[in-house]
Amino acid sequence: MVEIVSAYTDLRRQGERFSGLCPFHEERSPSFSVNPQEKLYYCFGCGAGGDLFRFVQEKEGLGFPEAVEALAERYGVEIEREAEDPRAEEQRKRRARIGELLERTAQFYGAYLWESKEAAKAREYLESRGLAEEVLRAFGVGYGPSAWDQVLTRGQSAGFGVPDLQAAGLVQKGQKGGHYDRFRARIMFPVRDPRGRVEGFGARALRPDTKPKYLNSPEGELYRKSRTLYGIDRARSAIAKVGRAVVVEGYTDVLAAHQAGITEAVAVMGTAITPEQLKQLARYAEEVVLAMDADSAGRAAMLRAQRVAGSKKLRLRVASMPAGEDPADMLQGGGAERLKGLIEEAMELPEFHVRVALDEADLSSPVGRDRALDEVVPVLVGMGESISRDELARVVADRLDADPGLVMRRVAAGGGERRKRAPARPAGQPGRDGAQQAPPEAAPRPLSVREPRERALLAMCVASPAEGREFLERLTPEHLSSPAVARARDWLAAHLDDPLAGLPRDDEELVSLITQIVMGAEREPGGRDAMELNYLQLEQGVVESQIEAVRKEGGDPPVDLQRRRAELAQRIAHSETATTRS
Ligand SMILES: [Zn+2]
Repeated sequence: MVEIVSAYTDLRRQGERFSGLCPFHEERSPSFSVNPQEKLYYCFGCGAGGDLFRFVQEKEGLGFPEAVEALAERYGVEIEREAEDPRAEEQRKRRARIGELLERTAQFYGAYLWESKEAAKAREYLESRGLAEEVLRAFGVGYGPSAWDQVLTRGQSAGFGVPDLQAAGLVQKGQKGGHYDRFRARIMFPVRDPRGRVEGFGARALRPDTKPKYLNSPEGELYRKSRTLYGIDRARSAIAKVGRAVVVEGYTDVLAAHQAGITEAVAVMGTAITPEQLKQLARYAEEVVLAMDADSAGRAAMLRAQRVAGSKKLRLRVASMPAGEDPADMLQGGGAERLKGLIEEAMELPEFHVRVALDEADLSSPVGRDRALDEVVPVLVGMGESISRDELARVVADRLDADPGLVMRRVAAGGGERRKRAPARPAGQPGRDGAQQAPPEAAPRPLSVREPRERALLAMCVASPAEGREFLERLTPEHLSSPAVARARDWLAAHLDDPLAGLPRDDEELVSLITQIVMGAEREPGGRDAMELNYLQLEQGVVESQIEAVRKEGGDPPVDLQRRRAELAQRIAHSETATTRS
């Protein structure tokens, strides 16, 4: 447990527990706690909590079965499978088979790069790019021979059929029937999933006349371009530790960055970062720096990214690369420090967008300035109220030679004035003002004012089970502010001896609540007096809301309710002195 969590945050031992900064929310002082005996984690700041499997599920974006598989693989535990859906079993075995074929082929390409005469030119090329053997080997860079059937025949003699080789994207059908190797005379970059399993390949032609220059595995069961992040397997833990991912454009950019110590670098397979890729990065980091070409296509993609980022609380920044230079070029010129500097100084995406819009606008005419204002207002609106927005608005007013009050009024109006005038845009086409149209994602369940008190009482019930049973009986759904807490009460009433055993894994809400309560039990003083006081306060809440309901109807609360309220107030006062004394 400690080893796995430590990949995401530094843990320090504190007695029987470990604590550290929470890997689920941003914080300065540690409120994240790990119990290695029970294999549980809990954050007192954001409420994230669960067991070992839950942690792996959350941090690596896996389902429960996949989390179990990932852990079993990592620690060499064999999984015994009980009845599995035959179709799922077939698919799993097929994927495992294709995965094995891809892994073997990656090994072959890797060996071929270093051992064959034919690959001498490739080795020279890579060296000329300033890439060291160490990093090339670490990423398993290889070479695909120029012969037509090396991979085909090797695969077949290892027992794989043509359908396997085709599904793996390694061979393709010839025009006269028969099959031949897809990747020939190319430098091969194995593309791996976060767990390090080969999903496919990216390949760069060595001879300048070979078209296309870059060739990827075809989209298939394992390889999907829109999802893949090159280098994620090696960058993952650095991303989690630094809290930041750097996205570059090409395979060699990733290698060069890692070689220069920027080990949180990954690449996307194209110029545009996709929502899927961002969501994946959001699992490891709070911040993504885009160190890629910001031409107009790239910028449109960045704006779409902003929409996703907004809903994921992800901070997006843009490192403006000097024109005509990619990170690999920069590093080759000994520019590691320069690249690091550009990353550190990267601009927030909205600011980047506003500055580009201003740079490109025709500021010589009022119409051109109006147009520029129309473009930047929605971006400012999308930023939400903040000092950085005010500052940027002043920059805009200054550049457009406009009254700052006008800019702020437009922003305060929410960009609405403009939308009325703007022509309708065909559906599906990303708007330039996309940033503010973010679809709201499901918000976490808001915590009522009462809920912490309810949880505290439940935690005390766990801490002192003898009294706990009695109080759990006395708690009715009326005392509890949400059905979720009521379900937690029901679960505890039935499983007070060992609340964590047998928790239904697919019930995330319950698992999370029970874990929080069990971890919280160690902090609660407990004892009958404290429990009684807590219970009375909940009871008071019930009576108050009944009185409130009557008042809302316009009536006077019945006498017995008022008497009950007075009685409760007295008992609470009495109980408070009792708890203070004890
Ligand atoms: Zn937290």
